[in-house]
Amino acid sequence: MARKVLVLEDESSIRSFIVINLTRAGYEVVEAESGEAALEMLKANPDARVALLDIMLPGIDGFEVCRRIRATNTRIGIIMLTARSQEMDKVTGLMTGADDYVTKPFSPAELTARVDALFRRAGGASPEQAGEIYQEPFLLNTRNRTLEKNGQRVKLTQVEYSIIKMFMENPGKALSREEILDTVWGRDYFGEVKIVDVNIRRLRLKIEDNAQNPTFINTVWGYGYKWGF
Ligand code: CA
Repeated sequence: MARKVLVLEDESSIRSFIVINLTRAGYEVVEAESGEAALEMLKANPDARVALLDIMLPGIDGFEVCRRIRATNTRIGIIMLTARSQEMDKVTGLMTGADDYVTKPFSPAELTARVDALFRRAGGASPEQAGEIYQEPFLLNTRNRTLEKNGQRVKLTQVEYSIIKMFMENPGKALSREEILDTVWGRDYFGEVKIVDVNIRRLRLKIEDNAQNPTFINTVWGYGYKWGF
């Protein structure tokens, strides 16, 4: 399987830092210095499994790139590169379909750990057995990693899929945010637990009849979340 990563960063010093470290970690890296170039690059390299997207760019910004990638590709893992001052951008980035974010400046170890974690998920490498989980009105197909609600396909990112799968395998059970973080992002994940909340918020918009009054993904106050019923 290709271990290919797309890196979009306009600052050449940061870009080389990323490229050198990912190459050292065994990844094949394709580089772009503008959003437009990154989208072209992705067309030419459809086997790229993870994309690192800087936000502040000349031309279209990283959020727009993310949105355009997600319009046609739910499978690729997307990590936004944010500056420390852009706290709100993290949330915006995740809402436009990114799976994760890394705050600059980051260490080589942090960078590769994040890419590794997403790679494992994007590759679907986990030894889950193929099959279907049906809980009205949802049908989760673990072979195709797809979700249907009332027979209609719901487009999910790989992270969203993993969360839903965890829920549907544990109906009615209160799951702590840390438990969800460990299962979905991996134990070696460096990030913060609030990334769980951000993804849940986005999932609710996709699967609830009314995201303001959720009935499938219920909040367990001060603890985590519970699937339905
Ligand atoms: Ca930049």
